[in-house]
Amino acid sequence: MEVGDWLKSNKSTISVAVAEDSKGKSYTLVGINRSVGKDEKVKAALLKVVSKNEIVVPMQGEGLHAKENIYDFAKTFGLTVKSIDANRPLCVDCNTIRKQNLTTTSTNTSNQKSKKRR
Ligand SMILES: [Zn+2]
Repeated sequence: MEVGDWLKSNKSTISVAVAEDSKGKSYTLVGINRSVGKDEKVKAALLKVVSKNEIVVPMQGEGLHAKENIYDFAKTFGLTVKSIDANRPLCVDCNTIRKQNLTTTSTNTSNQKSKKRR
């Protein structure tokens, strides 16, 4: 199986964002969701490929989407998320957060609420 097919076949979301600190220094934030977080092999693989100024964002809370993990992490460290993309369409909730933060994206939106959300 190719890794792209593997990504489609499960609920894994990996999101990549470019964020800036108050001095304009930029960082790449790699966000993951719970499915990726649980998969030690994938996590290990991700940690191997990140380079300087790239951060695999730790899970910020139970059940958060990859994008939400990025925004929570960015907020904690006073970073501004400039652009964000993901391997699957942004749900309504994540897209709302994106708009509030004036973040650009080239990822489609699903126009759907996450099924797991109340
Ligand atoms: Zn979402």
